[in-house]
Amino acid sequence: METLEPHRRKRHFERTAEPSAKRRASKTRHVFVVQKHCARHLHYDFRLEVDGVLKSWAVPKGPSLDPSVKRFAVAVEDHPLAYAEFEGVIPEGEYGAGTVMVWDRGTYNLEGGMDADAALQAGQLSFTLRGRKLKGGWALVRMRDENWLLVKHRDRFASTKDIESDAPTSVASQRLLRQIAADEGGDVVKAATGDPVRRRRAAPTGMLDAVR
Ligand code: MN
Repeated sequence: METLEPHRRKRHFERTAEPSAKRRASKTRHVFVVQKHCARHLHYDFRLEVDGVLKSWAVPKGPSLDPSVKRFAVAVEDHPLAYAEFEGVIPEGEYGAGTVMVWDRGTYNLEGGMDADAALQAGQLSFTLRGRKLKGGWALVRMRDENWLLVKHRDRFASTKDIESDAPTSVASQRLLRQIAADEGGDVVKAATGDPVRRRRAAPTGMLDAVR
């Protein structure tokens, strides 16, 4: 956004009808969804609505709220917009077989005044998410071919909190992967491997001393 500052300072938006970059961006608010997908390998499908489809990236480790952590993201095929609603089980033998959870969803808008096609071409997407779990500024940056990085911007929503294990349930149904698999006739044992291991409360020091 730094590059816009000199331009913005020179203009008086309150006196002109021409929309500022900020106002233009707010008009292009679209849906985003992150689907946690326990397929052959657990991953998170990060999807942004662009021109009526869902541009998609498979993120093996899922998004991190920590700006110093860059998460590998592989660009995968576009999905139809309606797929953003999907939570359930993809049957064995079909592409992506396994359990799918709507891990987060909301709206987003691009930052920096670039349109989505130009930003995708440039391999530089900067955007603001308004989800239940993911908020604030994020970037997708292409390294080479289909390989991108998903990175949190430094803002008030940045944190070192482990969002994958702290907020593991569906925002659509509050279910864990194993509950979705159980309800929808999927592989419960496999799906459970994608849920966080329940943490046991640490034993009080006195108790540990007693067994030492
Ligand atoms: Mn997937």
